Amino acid sequence: MDLECTMCGGKVVAPDDALKGEIVSCGDCGLDYEIQEVSAGTVILKAAENVKEDWGE
Ligand SMILES: [Zn+2]
Repeated sequence: MDLECTMCGGKVVAPDDALKGEIVSCGDCGLDYEIQEVSAGTVILKAAENVKEDWGE
């Protein structure tokens, strides 16, 4: 199913058999989302902000 990216309004595609905890990405801006909840054909996304880059500071 297609969901809307909260960051850019682009399309985030989640598989129909998506599972809680799975990671999906926005096709436009590349933001990662974690699937927070799946219920009755509806998927709730949460921005995956726990992916931390190490910038070597
Ligand atoms: Zn996006």
